[in-house]
Amino acid sequence: MAISEVEMAVPAKKTIALVAHDNMKDELLEWVSAHKDELAHHTLIGTGTTGRLVNEQTGLAVERLRSGPLGGDQQIGARISEGEVDVLLFFWDPLEPQPHDPDIKALLRIAVVWNIPVACNRASADFIMSSPHMNIAYVRRVPSHDR
Ligand code: PGA
Repeated sequence: MAISEVEMAVPAKKTIALVAHDNMKDELLEWVSAHKDELAHHTLIGTGTTGRLVNEQTGLAVERLRSGPLGGDQQIGARISEGEVDVLLFFWDPLEPQPHDPDIKALLRIAVVWNIPVACNRASADFIMSSPHMNIAYVRRVPSHDR
């Protein structure tokens, strides 16, 4: 299905969503600790446990939503569709099934629909974080409501 698009202004200060499955939490926490100073320039939101751990281990402020299996992934998806998330760092577990697999698929899908950068592992997160677009305004093409 072809849809029309419009341009959306993304500010220099990004809103970054953080989600890590249980087996991936250590990797995300390690990555966040290594990038703490850069992340401090942006706004962070996260699923419940991920957000709590990031806050406790780094002191970074994180708006915490529901835990992923309890609807947190869907809340982040809703924020994306409202234009309120600029970057998704989603360290999903490639080796273990998850009870909320449909929500995971939905979150990855909606991130593509709304054309936001997504990192699912540390190397991708490194590439995104080192992009000049992280610290300047950016124009993102998003779906238009007008048909
Ligand atoms: P959690 O949720 O941060 O509450 O553990 C992550 C997830 O499993 O999607």
